[in-house]
Amino acid sequence: MQSQKKYAQKLSLEFFPPRTNKGMENLKTAAQELGAMSPEYMSVTYGAGGTTQEKTVETVRYIQTQTDFEAAPHLTCIGATQESVLELLNKYQEMGVKRIVALRGDLPSGMMDPGEFKYASDLVAFIKEQKGDAFHLEVAAYPETHPQARNCDIGIKWFKHKVEQGADSAITQYFYNFDSYRYFVDNCEKNGIDLPIIPGIMPITNYENLIRFSQGCGAEVPRWLKCRLESFEDDQAGLLEFGKDVVTELSQKLLDAGAPGIHFYSMNKTQPTLDIATALTLK
Ligand code: FAD
Repeated sequence: MQSQKKYAQKLSLEFFPPRTNKGMENLKTAAQELGAMSPEYMSVTYGAGGTTQEKTVETVRYIQTQTDFEAAPHLTCIGATQESVLELLNKYQEMGVKRIVALRGDLPSGMMDPGEFKYASDLVAFIKEQKGDAFHLEVAAYPETHPQARNCDIGIKWFKHKVEQGADSAITQYFYNFDSYRYFVDNCEKNGIDLPIIPGIMPITNYENLIRFSQGCGAEVPRWLKCRLESFEDDQAGLLEFGKDVVTELSQKLLDAGAPGIHFYSMNKTQPTLDIATALTLK
């Protein structure tokens, strides 16, 4: 993990765009409260080919123009055209956005046409070509390997290609196995990939949701952790407390080993992320 140690450690967090007014009010409160952890930026997810895209723009506008924090929109390219991406980039530039999380996304079921971009690397190259260095570009990384990659070396090969198109840093898919991150970062190092690779960390708040979500995105919940979480049954307070301990310990271990910060998947909830973030010691 030597290559990661030269980067300053920073915290950041992620929201999803609320669909309702009540959800938006909740997000506004969460953004203010989570400000206590001094995040470098707050990112906002974007539904590939979905109906929530306008909500992303609205949420980004709120964070960027109505709070003291920097907003980082996620931008997925599957199903998009160059024209639609450029339109969004222009909109974000007008708001003063300086950071984009550039992603491929997944084609929604029933949608067959991938549009004008096949991979996130195409999007990174397009943003660089159109906007030069106007945006700091974050890309996704997969310590446990992306589910569509045939093996982890192929995953690394395409990750390197994406980085070479102009990515500035990477955020990982969440994981609960420290070694998956360590081996991934070492493998990147061996392959000449040198950029900050920030662990994405998912606080544990709900057993069923975590298992369902993890199956969908190819993140592994280790058997020991699954067994322990399952045993809490209706004891939500016990689960939250245990989850907090496990995830705080993992996050601190990552920071102690030299990870350049932590990116929290907040799920628009204040307390789970704030409890972990405020317990961490950054170097
Ligand atoms: P890519 O980097 O394009 O990789 C996708 C797959 O294609 C990989 O298996 C890769 O090995 C392979 N590949 C890449 N290039 C090539 C090539 N040239 N030839 C052959 N194979 C290739 N999804 C959303 O819909 N909205 C979001 O806001 C969102 N935010 C995310 C944030 C983070 C930090 C992460 C980790 C994921 C996020 N996702 C989001 C999920 C993401 O869109 C999916 O994981 C998607 O399947 C892959 O996106 P990518 O950008 O990693 O794709």
